[in-house]
Amino acid sequence: MIVDKFQRVHNYLRISLTDNCNLRCFYCMPEEDYEFTPASKLMQHDEIMAIAKVFTAEGVDKIRLTGGEPLVRKDAARIITSLAELPVTLTLTTNGTRLHEFLPVLKAAKIRSLNISLDTLQADKFNLLTRRNQFQQVFDNIHLMINNGFHVKVNVVVMKGLNDVEINDFIEWTKDVPVHVRFIEFMPFSGNRWTSNKVFTWQQILEVVGGKYPITSLAGEKNDTAKKYMVEGHAGTFAVISTMTSPFCAGCNRMRLTADGKMKNCLFSAEETDLLSALRNGQEILPLIKQSIGNKAKELGGQFTTDFEHLHAEDIHNRSMITIGG
Ligand code: SAM
Ligand code: SF4
Repeated sequence: MIVDKFQRVHNYLRISLTDNCNLRCFYCMPEEDYEFTPASKLMQHDEIMAIAKVFTAEGVDKIRLTGGEPLVRKDAARIITSLAELPVTLTLTTNGTRLHEFLPVLKAAKIRSLNISLDTLQADKFNLLTRRNQFQQVFDNIHLMINNGFHVKVNVVVMKGLNDVEINDFIEWTKDVPVHVRFIEFMPFSGNRWTSNKVFTWQQILEVVGGKYPITSLAGEKNDTAKKYMVEGHAGTFAVISTMTSPFCAGCNRMRLTADGKMKNCLFSAEETDLLSALRNGQEILPLIKQSIGNKAKELGGQFTTDFEHLHAEDIHNRSMITIGG
């Protein structure tokens, strides 16, 4: 088992397959002409499998693939198919643009649940946020996956003055469509133009929704990152990921592996442990994994607190989100 000094058992690994992406969400990928990591520096298929097996032997039973955009990687289908052979619940966070091409692969891998990111229901605003014209493809793919029996959670990063006015449009969408919308408080990463006054908080989100709909809280599960709610009579649900105002660090069971094979014990950790170089040098990686988890901070990578109003994004030592994998 992988346990930290706060007795948190870590059974969930998020693997970034690439830092490449076919969208350019400004809050995630700072520059239009960002230089992607060359393929030779990325974990290769066999290396991903070797590292994943060390984790599963230590009790990891859930793996999420992320990125960048995991489905732009050329051998994504092969990696998904291989990881599906491990004794894990396999899942994926994607921008949704390529899901129609991957439907058979995802079905064969017995993936049941997907997180798909969509911050707006307006095509023009989508172009503004992502700098690419793919709204209809993503929207159609969300429905395609739901119609094919997948449990679909839609991640919406809420930013004041940008898409906060659409919160109830998303709720309206859940009326007839069994989609599970998750509003995420905007988080600071290197170069992502975060300022505290752009954070639209959990409390504010509840006020907006509660002002129009009767809402009921749903019971959470251990290790949940989202506070879940339902609106009476709606086919879908909604939730809030309140990292900035009420983090869920006490129940954290997550570890991250960047596409270049660095382990991060927290989304906000400054420290990284180079598992890929160790593997390539023939070194045992389990002691490194345990050491990394042994150094895990109690909350938010030890870098900030919920007093985010006084936080300056440039004081946080971290990568940009695209190179971590959310
Ligand atoms: N490309 C995939 C996607 O967009 O879903 C996977 C990678 S993306 C980095 C993972 C998640 O992180 C997305 O839901 C995205 O909206 C979220 N994200 C990125 N930057 C964020 C930020 N600054 N604050 C909150 N969430 C963020
Ligand atoms: Fe790409 Fe996802 Fe980041 Fe948007 S949030 S730039 S889709 S990795």
